[in-house]
Order: sequence, then structure tokens, then C-alpha cells
Amino acid sequence: MAVKITDLCIACGGCIDECPVGAIVDDSDNPENNGAYYVYPDKCVECEGHHSTPACASACPTDGCIVWAEGNKRGKGAGTPVA
Ligand code: SF4
Ligand code: SF4
Repeated sequence: MAVKITDLCIACGGCIDECPVGAIVDDSDNPENNGAYYVYPDKCVECEGHHSTPACASACPTDGCIVWAEGNKRGKGAGTPVA
């Protein structure tokens, strides 16, 4: 269960401090090394118990940058932008 940051990310840093569980790392720590920020899927709780919608996506200024990952708990299609 998780959201995912795509290569649309402009590495602005807007999301990282919004995550209540520290699931996001910046581009320098991204294990995929693609210049984007990264969500560790095993840490992301989709903000359940913290916010009604994913806080990272609410903070992100880039439309469509943060999407639902495969197997998300909310039953959203993988790759669907998180509003
Ligand atoms: S959805 Fe919530 S828990 Fe998951 S990475 Fe975004 S802010 Fe963190
Ligand atoms: S807020 Fe969006 S564009 Fe900015 S670092 Fe996070 S995912 Fe990337």
C-alpha cells in the first residue's frame, strides 16, 4: 500500500516534511536515482490515521506527480494521480 512519486517530480521539497511517517526521501537518497523524490512503499501508510487524503500529494505543486502505487489500500488504479 502506497503512493508513488513519478519522474514529473521537480525536487522542490514540498512533500517531504508533510509525511507523518517519514516515508519520503529526497533525490539524493532515491534508490532509483532518477532525480525525483521517492516514497518507500513499505513505510507509506497512505496517511491513514493521519489525514483524510495523502498529505504529500496535497503539498505537491506538480499535477499528476504523485500517483497510487500498485496494491494501494484504497483500491485505486495503479498510476492514477492522487488528487
Ligand atoms: S501518502 Fe502519506 S504516508 Fe504515504 S508518502 Fe504520502 S504523506 Fe507519507
Ligand atoms: S512536492 Fe512534488 S514535485 Fe516537490 S519534491 Fe515532492 S513529489 Fe517532487
